[in-house]
Amino acid sequence: MHLEPPVFRPPSEAFSLILQLSLGCRHNACTFCGMYRDKKFRIKSWEEIKNDIDTCVEQLKDINRIFLADGDALAAPTELIQDTASYLSGMFPGLDRISMYAGPKDILGKSFDELKEIRSSGIKLLYLGVESGSDQILNAVCKGVTSQQMIEAGRKALQAGFELSVTVINGLGGTELWQEHACETGKVLTNIDPTYIGALTLMVVPNTPLYKKVQQGTFVIPDSRGILKELQLLIENINATNSVFRTNHASNYLPLRGVLNRDKATILRILDKAITEPEKIPLRPDYIRGL
Ligand code: SF4
Repeated sequence: MHLEPPVFRPPSEAFSLILQLSLGCRHNACTFCGMYRDKKFRIKSWEEIKNDIDTCVEQLKDINRIFLADGDALAAPTELIQDTASYLSGMFPGLDRISMYAGPKDILGKSFDELKEIRSSGIKLLYLGVESGSDQILNAVCKGVTSQQMIEAGRKALQAGFELSVTVINGLGGTELWQEHACETGKVLTNIDPTYIGALTLMVVPNTPLYKKVQQGTFVIPDSRGILKELQLLIENINATNSVFRTNHASNYLPLRGVLNRDKATILRILDKAITEPEKIPLRPDYIRGL
Protein backbone atom coordinates (compact mmCIF):
# COMPACT_ATOMS: atom_id res chain seq x y z
CA MET A 1 0.00 0.00 0.00
CA HIS A 2 1.36 3.39 -0.98
CA LEU A 3 0.96 5.92 1.89
CA GLU A 4 2.13 9.52 1.94
CA PRO A 5 3.23 10.41 5.50
CA PRO A 6 2.33 11.60 8.00
CA VAL A 7 -0.59 9.22 8.46
CA PHE A 8 -3.00 9.35 11.40
CA ARG A 9 -5.87 7.11 12.43
CA PRO A 10 -8.18 6.84 15.44
CA PRO A 11 -7.17 4.30 18.16
CA SER A 12 -10.03 2.01 17.17
CA GLU A 13 -8.58 1.69 13.65
CA ALA A 14 -5.30 0.20 14.88
CA PHE A 15 -5.84 -3.03 12.92
CA SER A 16 -7.50 -1.49 9.87
CA LEU A 17 -6.06 -1.14 6.41
CA ILE A 18 -5.49 2.58 5.83
CA LEU A 19 -6.23 3.93 2.37
CA GLN A 20 -5.67 7.60 1.56
CA LEU A 21 -8.54 9.16 -0.36
CA SER A 22 -7.19 12.64 0.31
CA LEU A 23 -3.93 14.04 1.60
CA GLY A 24 -3.80 16.48 4.52
CA CYS A 25 -6.69 18.55 5.83
CA ARG A 26 -8.57 21.18 3.86
CA HIS A 27 -9.23 23.27 6.99
CA ASN A 28 -5.74 22.86 8.50
CA ALA A 29 -6.22 25.83 10.84
CA CYS A 30 -6.99 24.47 14.31
CA THR A 31 -4.52 26.07 16.69
CA PHE A 32 -3.89 22.87 18.68
CA CYS A 33 -3.36 20.58 15.69
CA GLY A 34 -0.03 19.87 14.07
CA MET A 35 -1.10 16.77 12.16
CA TYR A 36 -1.04 18.05 8.61
CA ARG A 37 0.53 21.49 9.05
CA ASP A 38 3.17 20.90 6.35
CA LYS A 39 1.07 18.74 4.07
CA LYS A 40 -0.69 20.36 1.13
CA PHE A 41 -4.33 19.32 0.87
CA ARG A 42 -5.23 17.30 -2.19
CA ILE A 43 -7.89 14.81 -3.18
CA LYS A 44 -6.40 11.81 -4.93
CA SER A 45 -7.61 10.76 -8.35
CA TRP A 46 -9.59 7.56 -8.91
CA GLU A 47 -6.60 6.14 -10.85
CA GLU A 48 -4.28 6.69 -7.85
CA ILE A 49 -6.79 5.21 -5.40
CA LYS A 50 -7.54 2.18 -7.57
CA ASN A 51 -3.83 1.59 -8.05
CA ASP A 52 -3.29 1.74 -4.24
CA ILE A 53 -6.03 -0.85 -3.74
CA ASP A 54 -4.86 -3.13 -6.54
CA THR A 55 -1.29 -3.23 -5.23
CA CYS A 56 -2.30 -4.55 -1.78
CA VAL A 57 -5.34 -6.69 -2.40
CA GLU A 58 -3.45 -9.98 -2.79
CA GLN A 59 -1.54 -9.71 0.53
CA LEU A 60 -4.46 -8.25 2.49
CA LYS A 61 -7.53 -9.92 1.06
CA ASP A 62 -8.66 -11.18 4.50
CA ILE A 63 -8.83 -7.69 5.99
CA ASN A 64 -12.19 -6.82 7.54
CA ARG A 65 -11.81 -3.11 8.32
CA ILE A 66 -10.64 -0.22 6.16
CA PHE A 67 -10.12 3.38 7.25
CA LEU A 68 -10.15 6.13 4.61
CA ALA A 69 -7.68 8.91 5.41
CA ASP A 70 -6.44 11.66 5.56
CA GLY A 71 -8.04 14.24 7.83
CA ASP A 72 -10.70 15.46 5.46
CA ALA A 73 -11.58 12.45 3.33
CA LEU A 74 -15.28 13.33 3.20
CA ALA A 75 -14.29 16.48 1.30
CA ALA A 76 -13.81 14.22 -1.74
CA PRO A 77 -16.57 14.26 -4.36
CA THR A 78 -19.49 11.97 -3.49
CA GLU A 79 -18.99 9.89 -6.63
CA LEU A 80 -15.31 9.25 -5.82
CA ILE A 81 -16.21 8.09 -2.30
CA GLN A 82 -18.96 5.82 -3.66
CA ASP A 83 -16.69 4.35 -6.34
CA THR A 84 -13.98 3.69 -3.75
CA ALA A 85 -16.36 2.04 -1.28
CA SER A 86 -18.00 -0.12 -3.96
CA TYR A 87 -14.64 -1.21 -5.35
CA LEU A 88 -13.34 -2.06 -1.87
CA SER A 89 -16.45 -4.12 -1.10
CA GLY A 90 -15.89 -6.09 -4.28
CA MET A 91 -12.17 -6.64 -3.72
CA PHE A 92 -12.34 -7.52 -0.01
CA PRO A 93 -15.22 -9.98 0.47
CA GLY A 94 -14.76 -10.20 4.25
CA LEU A 95 -15.09 -6.47 4.73
CA ASP A 96 -17.15 -5.58 7.77
CA ARG A 97 -16.57 -1.84 8.05
CA ILE A 98 -15.30 1.13 6.07
CA SER A 99 -14.85 4.31 8.08
CA MET A 100 -13.44 7.78 7.52
CA TYR A 101 -12.74 11.16 9.13
CA ALA A 102 -15.43 13.74 8.38
CA GLY A 103 -15.08 17.45 9.09
CA PRO A 104 -18.26 19.28 10.16
CA LYS A 105 -18.14 21.46 7.04
CA ASP A 106 -17.83 18.35 4.86
CA ILE A 107 -20.97 16.85 6.37
CA LEU A 108 -22.87 20.13 6.10
CA GLY A 109 -21.59 20.64 2.54
CA LYS A 110 -23.14 17.39 1.29
CA SER A 111 -26.88 17.14 0.70
CA PHE A 112 -28.81 14.67 2.80
CA ASP A 113 -29.31 12.47 -0.27
CA GLU A 114 -25.56 12.49 -0.98
CA LEU A 115 -24.83 11.35 2.56
CA LYS A 116 -27.38 8.56 2.24
CA GLU A 117 -25.80 7.47 -1.07
CA ILE A 118 -22.35 7.40 0.57
CA ARG A 119 -23.78 5.34 3.41
CA SER A 120 -25.41 2.92 0.94
CA SER A 121 -22.13 2.48 -0.91
CA GLY A 122 -20.63 0.87 2.21
CA ILE A 123 -19.19 3.62 4.43
CA LYS A 124 -20.45 2.69 7.87
CA LEU A 125 -18.74 4.95 10.40
CA LEU A 126 -17.73 8.63 10.40
CA TYR A 127 -15.28 10.21 12.87
CA LEU A 128 -16.11 13.81 13.76
CA GLY A 129 -13.79 16.02 15.82
CA VAL A 130 -16.13 18.08 18.01
CA GLU A 131 -13.26 19.16 20.31
CA SER A 132 -15.41 21.54 22.41
CA GLY A 133 -19.03 22.58 22.68
CA SER A 134 -18.15 26.12 23.75
CA ASP A 135 -18.42 28.73 21.01
CA GLN A 136 -15.80 30.82 22.80
CA ILE A 137 -13.33 27.92 22.69
CA LEU A 138 -14.24 26.78 19.16
CA ASN A 139 -13.58 30.34 18.04
CA ALA A 140 -10.32 30.61 20.00
CA VAL A 141 -8.95 27.39 18.47
CA CYS A 142 -10.13 28.36 14.94
CA LYS A 143 -12.26 25.25 14.48
CA GLY A 144 -14.19 27.09 11.77
CA VAL A 145 -17.71 26.19 12.92
CA THR A 146 -20.05 27.07 15.77
CA SER A 147 -21.42 24.62 18.31
CA GLN A 148 -24.79 24.78 16.54
CA GLN A 149 -23.18 23.82 13.22
CA MET A 150 -21.38 20.98 14.99
CA ILE A 151 -24.69 19.69 16.34
CA GLU A 152 -26.31 19.98 12.89
CA ALA A 153 -23.41 18.09 11.29
CA GLY A 154 -23.49 15.30 13.85
CA ARG A 155 -27.24 14.86 13.73
CA LYS A 156 -27.29 14.94 9.93
CA ALA A 157 -24.71 12.13 9.76
CA LEU A 158 -26.70 10.00 12.19
CA GLN A 159 -29.97 10.65 10.37
CA ALA A 160 -28.32 9.59 7.11
CA GLY A 161 -27.66 6.22 8.74
CA PHE A 162 -23.98 6.44 9.72
CA GLU A 163 -22.55 5.35 13.02
CA LEU A 164 -20.88 8.44 14.43
CA SER A 165 -17.77 8.58 16.59
CA VAL A 166 -17.01 12.02 18.03
CA THR A 167 -13.92 13.19 19.86
CA VAL A 168 -13.62 15.93 22.44
CA ILE A 169 -10.41 17.31 23.94
CA ASN A 170 -10.16 17.70 27.69
CA GLY A 171 -8.06 20.69 28.65
CA LEU A 172 -8.87 22.69 25.52
CA GLY A 173 -10.33 25.54 27.59
CA GLY A 174 -7.20 25.76 29.73
CA THR A 175 -7.42 26.51 33.44
CA GLU A 176 -9.50 29.60 32.67
CA LEU A 177 -12.42 28.03 30.79
CA TRP A 178 -12.47 24.43 32.04
CA GLN A 179 -15.98 24.65 33.48
CA GLU A 180 -17.40 26.36 30.40
CA HIS A 181 -15.65 23.73 28.25
CA ALA A 182 -17.02 20.78 30.22
CA CYS A 183 -20.60 22.07 30.54
CA GLU A 184 -20.99 23.28 26.93
CA THR A 185 -19.34 20.18 25.49
CA GLY A 186 -21.71 18.03 27.54
CA LYS A 187 -24.65 19.92 26.03
CA VAL A 188 -23.40 19.46 22.45
CA LEU A 189 -22.81 15.74 23.01
CA THR A 190 -26.29 15.43 24.49
CA ASN A 191 -27.75 17.15 21.43
CA ILE A 192 -25.85 14.96 18.98
CA ASP A 193 -26.31 11.73 20.97
CA PRO A 194 -23.56 9.96 18.96
CA THR A 195 -22.79 6.26 18.72
CA TYR A 196 -19.32 6.67 20.26
CA ILE A 197 -17.71 9.42 22.34
CA GLY A 198 -13.93 9.49 22.66
CA ALA A 199 -12.28 11.92 25.06
CA LEU A 200 -8.65 12.88 24.46
CA THR A 201 -6.51 14.99 26.76
CA LEU A 202 -4.79 18.04 25.34
CA MET A 203 -1.10 17.66 24.55
CA VAL A 204 0.40 20.73 22.93
CA VAL A 205 2.38 20.10 19.78
CA PRO A 206 5.46 22.22 18.96
CA ASN A 207 5.06 24.66 16.06
CA THR A 208 1.36 25.16 16.64
CA PRO A 209 -0.23 28.49 17.65
CA LEU A 210 -1.45 26.95 20.91
CA TYR A 211 2.09 25.84 21.78
CA LYS A 212 3.23 29.46 21.42
CA LYS A 213 0.46 30.59 23.79
CA VAL A 214 1.60 28.03 26.36
CA GLN A 215 5.19 29.22 25.99
CA GLN A 216 4.07 32.83 26.44
CA GLY A 217 2.03 31.90 29.50
CA THR A 218 -1.27 33.09 28.00
CA PHE A 219 -2.73 29.56 28.00
CA VAL A 220 -2.32 27.24 30.97
CA ILE A 221 -3.06 23.51 30.63
CA PRO A 222 -4.85 22.02 33.64
CA ASP A 223 -2.80 19.50 35.63
CA SER A 224 -3.85 15.85 35.86
CA ARG A 225 -6.21 16.50 38.78
CA GLY A 226 -7.75 19.44 36.92
CA ILE A 227 -8.27 17.24 33.86
CA LEU A 228 -10.03 14.59 35.95
CA LYS A 229 -12.31 17.22 37.50
CA GLU A 230 -13.09 18.55 34.05
CA LEU A 231 -13.85 15.05 32.78
CA GLN A 232 -16.14 14.52 35.77
CA LEU A 233 -18.06 17.71 35.00
CA LEU A 234 -18.24 16.78 31.32
CA ILE A 235 -19.78 13.38 32.05
CA GLU A 236 -22.22 14.90 34.52
CA ASN A 237 -23.43 17.14 31.69
CA ILE A 238 -23.89 14.39 29.09
CA ASN A 239 -27.37 12.96 28.81
CA ALA A 240 -27.04 10.34 26.07
CA THR A 241 -29.27 7.40 25.26
CA ASN A 242 -26.73 4.73 24.35
CA SER A 243 -23.33 6.28 23.52
CA VAL A 244 -20.22 4.18 24.06
CA PHE A 245 -17.84 6.40 26.03
CA ARG A 246 -14.08 5.80 25.98
CA THR A 247 -10.91 7.47 27.18
CA ASN A 248 -8.67 4.83 25.58
CA HIS A 249 -6.50 7.34 23.71
CA ALA A 250 -2.85 7.37 24.79
CA SER A 251 -3.09 11.05 25.76
CA ASN A 252 -5.41 10.31 28.70
CA TYR A 253 -4.44 9.92 32.34
CA LEU A 254 -7.12 7.35 33.15
CA PRO A 255 -8.60 4.78 30.75
CA LEU A 256 -12.37 4.56 31.21
CA ARG A 257 -15.08 2.79 29.26
CA GLY A 258 -18.82 2.52 29.54
CA VAL A 259 -22.15 3.21 27.97
CA LEU A 260 -23.79 6.55 28.72
CA ASN A 261 -26.10 6.94 30.50
CA ARG A 262 -26.18 3.31 31.70
CA ASP A 263 -22.70 3.40 33.28
CA LYS A 264 -22.58 7.09 34.14
CA ALA A 265 -22.75 6.63 37.92
CA THR A 266 -19.98 3.99 37.87
CA ILE A 267 -17.66 6.14 35.74
CA LEU A 268 -18.29 9.15 37.99
CA ARG A 269 -17.53 7.04 41.07
CA ILE A 270 -14.18 5.95 39.60
CA LEU A 271 -13.33 9.54 38.73
CA ASP A 272 -14.27 10.72 42.21
CA LYS A 273 -12.00 8.10 43.75
CA ALA A 274 -9.15 9.03 41.42
CA ILE A 275 -9.51 12.68 42.49
CA THR A 276 -10.03 12.21 46.23
CA GLU A 277 -7.87 9.11 46.83
CA PRO A 278 -5.15 9.36 44.16
CA GLU A 279 -3.02 6.71 45.84
CA LYS A 280 -5.74 4.10 45.09
CA ILE A 281 -6.11 4.76 41.35
CA PRO A 282 -2.77 5.28 39.60
CA LEU A 283 -2.76 7.61 36.59
CA ARG A 284 -0.77 7.22 33.40
CA PRO A 285 2.45 9.19 33.94
CA ASP A 286 3.08 12.17 31.67
CA TYR A 287 6.14 10.56 30.12
CA ILE A 288 4.05 7.68 28.78
CA ARG A 289 1.23 9.85 27.42
CA GLY A 290 1.26 10.37 23.69
CA LEU A 291 -0.75 11.42 20.65
S1 SF4 B 1 -8.06 19.12 14.08
FE1 SF4 B 1 -8.91 18.14 12.25
S2 SF4 B 1 -9.93 19.84 11.17
FE2 SF4 B 1 -8.52 20.78 12.63
S3 SF4 B 1 -6.63 21.13 11.46
FE3 SF4 B 1 -6.42 19.13 12.50
S4 SF4 B 1 -7.11 17.62 11.02
FE4 SF4 B 1 -7.84 19.62 10.31
